[in-house]
Amino acid sequence: NRHFFVGGNWKCNGSKKSIRELADLVNGIQLEPNSGTQVVCAPPFPYLDFVRSLLKKEVGVAAQNCWIHGNGAYTGEVSVDMLLDLGVEWVILGHSERRHIPELHESDETIAQKTKRALDSGLGVILCIGELLQEREEGKTLDVCKRQLGAVAKVVKDWEKVVVAYEPVWAIGTGKVATPEQAQEVHAVVRKWFSETVSPQVADKIRIIYGGSVNGQNCNLLAGQKDIDGFLVGGASLKPEFANIVSSHS
Ligand code: 13P
Repeated sequence: NRHFFVGGNWKCNGSKKSIRELADLVNGIQLEPNSGTQVVCAPPFPYLDFVRSLLKKEVGVAAQNCWIHGNGAYTGEVSVDMLLDLGVEWVILGHSERRHIPELHESDETIAQKTKRALDSGLGVILCIGELLQEREEGKTLDVCKRQLGAVAKVVKDWEKVVVAYEPVWAIGTGKVATPEQAQEVHAVVRKWFSETVSPQVADKIRIIYGGSVNGQNCNLLAGQKDIDGFLVGGASLKPEFANIVSSHS
């Protein structure tokens, strides 16, 4: 009863020309009637308005980040109010590239505050969590995911408009996809964490999607796992195989 959710994170890619082509491709994806599958595309900031105007209304649009405060003297930032004004419905927060690229280096607390601001204003949040390779090798995967979620749970009480994306950092852009068993293990523990820390109702309802080298070939086995409710797709979201990933849940 959890609707399948597939996000395309376009990252820092595209031009007006390529984005027009990509929007055509996404608009052409035929969703099974009554499948309930939700599709959301996340272009870079300058293209949000353009993409919202190109995509059919059934497809959601997400920003890849937002400012932590409101409008004001914050040169170079983009506020949640601006995103809402453009008809953007979602924002990706806590992506590993924003957590770990040294020039960005967003903390758990920063991501939690951004999540709170976005939700308070009515945006949906795709909240990314996940461990580094070293953390996995040291057996810290589950602790890292719980720490990242715990920071958000300190300030967020209503999880209705949150989708959690488990993205192991070692699987992002590397072609090394987590096995269905590896992903399922973490997703199940995350759901249990919600049950124990927030409530069984939230645990039952919240979508937990997987990201990291998802493609048209590996999506079906992953989608078959009990606690995998969709995907956050990087590289393959710029290609025709995105359509296969959207349709992987049947
Ligand atoms: P790739 O699908 O390119 O590995 O990227 C995953 C990702 O970071 C989605 O947010």
